[in-house]
Formats: sequence, structure tokens, C-alpha cells
Amino acid sequence: MRKSFVTLAVGLIIILMSSCSSGKKPSSTEADSGTLCTCPPESFIHIDLQPLGDFSQKEANQLKEELEKHLVPIYLSEIEVLPKKDIPASCLYKPRNRYWAGKILGFLKQQNQGSDFVTIGLTHRDISTSIHRQYNYGIMGLSFLPGEACVVSTYRLKRKDDLWKVTIHEFLHSRGLPHCKKNAPKCLMQDAHGKNTFYMKNGLCQDCQNSMKSIIGNQ
Ligand SMILES: [Zn+2]
Ligand SMILES: [Zn+2]
Repeated sequence: MRKSFVTLAVGLIIILMSSCSSGKKPSSTEADSGTLCTCPPESFIHIDLQPLGDFSQKEANQLKEELEKHLVPIYLSEIEVLPKKDIPASCLYKPRNRYWAGKILGFLKQQNQGSDFVTIGLTHRDISTSIHRQYNYGIMGLSFLPGEACVVSTYRLKRKDDLWKVTIHEFLHSRGLPHCKKNAPKCLMQDAHGKNTFYMKNGLCQDCQNSMKSIIGNQ
């Protein structure tokens, strides 16, 4: 009797082990980013994607799908695409035909005032801010740190398909996550320092994942 119980137990353990290892092998992106199953439920937030100017609803929906795939496992969120809006003319810096990213943030913040949503503006136009001791410096994205609005632009991206990476970078700034302290080249939170390196990035490094968890835990 005891022997058959032991045989049954061993058999069960073997079945359990094989069902774990027979699962789909994580892709290199998933393995490198280590972002699987790290999402604490208390991180839940609603995100509005706001297409601006000639950024189409279709493109915004594609970005939504990318974010559901890559952001939701890091930060539990519900994502909605809003109807298109024009960027107010007052945001334009005429001498360079660029939009002041900070002014766009102000415009987006006005829209979601009083809510705890995050609104992310999406544009194909060039956006800029004054950083690195330079007036009106072209950037890929800007966010309050922390705050309820971000803006991202495809204009300076080498690969337009990498917009989800810029979006996650700015969104996590909006949740209070600073730049990567390890300066890891593959980490989405590495400071761009004016370089266009998003094509190299694939997830959050362990250090940034830990920082994100402690920020969520303290909210
Ligand atoms: Zn990092
Ligand atoms: Zn940044």
C-alpha cells in the first residue's frame, strides 16, 4: 500500500515537472527583459492614447496592441484610444517648425485634469524641449516625473516600430521611475543622451524592475 502511494507520488511529480518544461520557451526578448509575471495588481492604471494631428487611429490601435503585449506584463493597465485631436497652434516653435513638448504636456494635462489617468500624446511631428544646455533641442518623448501626461514622437526614431519602447520609457517616468542607474544598453529606461538607441532595447533591467516594484509598493 505504502509502496503504491510512493509510486503514485513520484509519478505525479514527474508529470508536473514535464508539464512545466514542455511549455513554450520564452523568446530571447522575454528572457532578456525578464518582464514575465512581475506585474503586481496594485499597479493598475488607465491609459488614454491621444493621437495628435496626422497620427491615425489605426496607428494608435497598433501601438495599443504593442503596449498590451509589452507594457501590461510590467505595469497592469487598461489602454484606450481617444479620437484624434490637433496640436494647438500655440505649441509650435515656428523657427524650427517643431512643437514644444512641454506645451503639449500642458495641453494633455488640461484634458485629464482631476483624474488619475495617464494621457499619452502620439505624434509624427518633431518635438523639442530645452535640455543639455540647448534651447529647443529635438527629442523623442517627454513626461512629467511623476505626472499624468506624456508625449511621444516617431520623428527621430530610426525604426518607427520602436514607438512602443519610447512610450513605455515615458510612461514609466510618469509613474516616477527615473533613468536606469546601471546605464544598461538594453534597458528601456537608459537615458538616450541625445542618441537614438531604442532599436537596441528590449525590456527593463533587473535593477529598474526592482525600482518599479518599490515605487508601486509605496503608492
Ligand atoms: Zn535599467
Ligand atoms: Zn527619459
